[in-house]
Amino acid sequence: MPIQVLSPEVVSKIAAGEVVERPASVVKELMENSLDAGATQVTVDVVGGGTALLRVSDNGIGIPADEVELAFHRYATSKLATIPDLDAISSLGFRGEALPSIAAVAEISMVSRSQDELAGTFIHLKNGAVMGKTKRGCAPGTTITVRNLFRNVPARLKFLKSITTESGRVSHLVTQYSLAFPEVKFILIIDGRTVFLSPGSGDLRDVLIQVYGLETAKSLLEIRGSGEAVIKVSGLISPPRINRSTRTHLSFFINRRWIQSRTLAYAVEEAYRGMLVTGKHPIAAVNIFLPPQEIDVNVHPTKSEVRFRREHEVFSAVNHEVRATLVEQVTAPPLKIHAVPATALPAEQIPFSNIKAEQKPALLPQEFALAKLPILRVLGQLQGTYIIAEGPDNMYLIDQHAAHERVLFEKIREQQRQRQVEVQGLLEPVAIELTVPQEGFLKAQQEALAEYGFVIEHFGERTYLIRSVPALLKEQNVAQSLIELLDFIAEGAPADWQDRIAISLACHGAVKAGQILSPQEMQGLVQQLEQTTMPQTCPHGRPTMIQLSTSQLEKEFGRR
Ligand code: ADP
Ligand code: MG
Repeated sequence: MPIQVLSPEVVSKIAAGEVVERPASVVKELMENSLDAGATQVTVDVVGGGTALLRVSDNGIGIPADEVELAFHRYATSKLATIPDLDAISSLGFRGEALPSIAAVAEISMVSRSQDELAGTFIHLKNGAVMGKTKRGCAPGTTITVRNLFRNVPARLKFLKSITTESGRVSHLVTQYSLAFPEVKFILIIDGRTVFLSPGSGDLRDVLIQVYGLETAKSLLEIRGSGEAVIKVSGLISPPRINRSTRTHLSFFINRRWIQSRTLAYAVEEAYRGMLVTGKHPIAAVNIFLPPQEIDVNVHPTKSEVRFRREHEVFSAVNHEVRATLVEQVTAPPLKIHAVPATALPAEQIPFSNIKAEQKPALLPQEFALAKLPILRVLGQLQGTYIIAEGPDNMYLIDQHAAHERVLFEKIREQQRQRQVEVQGLLEPVAIELTVPQEGFLKAQQEALAEYGFVIEHFGERTYLIRSVPALLKEQNVAQSLIELLDFIAEGAPADWQDRIAISLACHGAVKAGQILSPQEMQGLVQQLEQTTMPQTCPHGRPTMIQLSTSQLEKEFGRR
């Protein structure tokens, strides 16, 4: 179909809005155009987090010379013409908004040659206006270069995170598309260095090898799926022993469109029930195919969400296929969970929550956070998770994990300030393979990590050797801990990274819920907690304890 401007009737049916929020959104729109153009190779180039330069080149069908200018008009598209077309969209794009929206906030140039033309067309736009257009020799396909993104929109520029964070978002995005399109070869170049290359073999597992490394990719389980169903589910999921501390590694593709969906994430995680401890999440790349009429992609301007006509059935299909895959293919017995951390308990299981509202012991308010604890006497342990203690006028229930986190967090921060972190050298270096974003954060934070005791060397490709770790981690799976740490710092702003490292180390080093402690250990922990500056909250901000006063007890028993 040639490019044409959509009629006002069709435009009025399209979810309108801003598609260009940050560099990664530009890359997303340009890559989608390349994929819609049938490209088998897509190269993404990023300089300075994408604000200096972004370039996407492809070997797709290209744009004929006489349509090049039209492509930059609002609502000009070759993918859709009528309202009925909207009900069965099979292309990634359809709104005809991306190119004009990008042109409005950046300098943009494009060279494109359609397969049957002898030469390409070069066009250059500034502030949305065409500055020049000439013939230019080039290979068939399209290259779009975006410079000085948001220079004319300082408010948006200010809203961006660090260069590392923005580049990280782009690499996450390229990774996701490479999983959705295993037959396409994706090349990602960040600041002049090729950091990711997908093989384009058509096999999802080959892509996962590039993303997660050979060891992890080899262990992933294949969803076999039943062939006849209307809703087809395929893909790869991790066995429970391979897990992560964030949901970043759950990817979903509906008819090859990468989407974000809490419902689907829940459908997958629910299938791991009883196999993963709280706070751990699987790795999964899940493809869902269903008739285009069954979904509405026209709900959100960035098309990153879809609406299902029959959401419940999609949920069940995904949940069922994942569960079946785990049940059939996981050989080790499912993990028994003895206790879950206090924060994950449903309300009715939180101690004292059955007491009527006005008598309910208040969780200690933040403004009391600096209040010191009185000297406490330990009475015992509840569910292997809570320490029961008494003070002069109160009874306390202390979450042992949260309390220990607080103790360790302050200790680690203090050691780091004094440059006296206890380090544990490893007898044998531990090799880890990182994803591109993880590698970005490792590089950005290498010095800070060294201050905490991590000595990490580059070994080759994206493999690194861990030579030493903070002494706190000596009993732990150090590779897993480091990966979780990198994922965790990636979620925060650069200003928080120091704290995030300490929080993550404290969390890994702290006693777990469900661990039986001796009276001496409990008394020791409580004494250390008394010494901290903020004993009532853990470094994540959750309470370390709840209390019940003597007078509340007396009321409950009708003594007063
Ligand atoms: P949409 O993708 O919603 O149609 P865009 O503004 O992203 O709108 O693109 C406008 C049109 O420009 C597309 O419909 C397509 O015809 C053409 N186009 C954009 N990028 C490419 C590309 N990489 N290869 C071929 N054609 C392209
Ligand atoms: Mg598009």
